[in-house]
Amino acid sequence: MPLKVHPDIASLSPYVPGKPIEELQRELGLARVIKLASNENPLGSSPKALAALSEGTSTLHRYPDGGAFRLREALADRWKVTPDQVILGNGSDEILGLLARTFLAPGDEAVMADQTFVIYKMEVTAAHGKPIIVPLKQWRHDLQAMADAITDRTRLLFLCNPNNPTGTMVSAAEVDRLLSRVPAHVVTVFDEAYFEYVRSEQFPDSMSYVNQGRNVIVLRTFSKIYGLAGLRIGYGVATAEITNILNRVRPPFNANSLAQRAALAALGDDEHVAQSRAVNAAGMEEMVKGLTSLGLEPIPSEANFVYVDVGRDGRAVFEALLKEGVIVRHIEGPMVRVTIGLEEENREFLAALKRVIHPIEHKVRST
Ligand SMILES: *Cc1c(COP(=O)(O)O)cnc(C)c1O
Repeated sequence: MPLKVHPDIASLSPYVPGKPIEELQRELGLARVIKLASNENPLGSSPKALAALSEGTSTLHRYPDGGAFRLREALADRWKVTPDQVILGNGSDEILGLLARTFLAPGDEAVMADQTFVIYKMEVTAAHGKPIIVPLKQWRHDLQAMADAITDRTRLLFLCNPNNPTGTMVSAAEVDRLLSRVPAHVVTVFDEAYFEYVRSEQFPDSMSYVNQGRNVIVLRTFSKIYGLAGLRIGYGVATAEITNILNRVRPPFNANSLAQRAALAALGDDEHVAQSRAVNAAGMEEMVKGLTSLGLEPIPSEANFVYVDVGRDGRAVFEALLKEGVIVRHIEGPMVRVTIGLEEENREFLAALKRVIHPIEHKVRST
């Protein structure tokens, strides 16, 4: 039977997630697989979150608190806003979809970078909006060109900071300049999924833009440093006017009860966050050193992953690494993104990469 599908929807391709560990084990019969593909926390979840989860099972027959009272209150307290300025999502991904559905009428424009998080383009297109793509400049958002791209039809501007997949950031001074050029009919979306990993002091305090009453929303997630990717929970902070309008399209029980409990506990687990930051900082140093010694030049990153030109077909390198039991992410051309893992995982990845890109040298040495 012929389906009637809107051409915008037909034009989309399904999102390709990082390959699951079990899938590779099944396919290649490997016992040990290292996954450095989805920017997950290699230390795992906050132990406090795991404890809160087991206590939450006795009320699973009840619907979640649709208003997520305790978690929104805790987030409001953390960011010095009021609870009505906080919106939860089934992952921050869901809030990206809510933003597109809320603010875009067919043909309305959304400005975004290339390359950046692929979900923006997908959600904008699915909402029948028009993605306006502004290429990165030296691997960073080109904020001047993004401001130039704004028209009367623009409703959203996506700023992924630090940017996925490049790991690069834009500074407070640069964002100040951008915002001075963004008119009120555009909502600026600060997607800060890797915020807790950032070490640069130049990083913008985006919550201050919310407090100034600007049309911005700051998105954060429990999927990355808090180690709760499997539970699906993220949040947005904006003016009450923006959250009020987003709440009209938000599904009522989008943040499940276990996710709410675990996120609340994780938010209070400063020790887990500090340890995760430290492991990432040390791992990043090792990773950069290792890649450099292989003759590669990783792009300096503020996040928990690095983006690197492997000097040949990145797809082939990705495939060859799979056979070595290492899952990374091929993005395009020679570019590969690698998540910082535990010390041993980073070492094993670097050894596998060396075998893949310098096979002859390796054989000479090992015989
Ligand atoms: C991982 C990630 C997210 C978070 O996704 P969740 O839906 O919260 O798991 C959002 N934005 C970017 C850029 C990311 O890399």
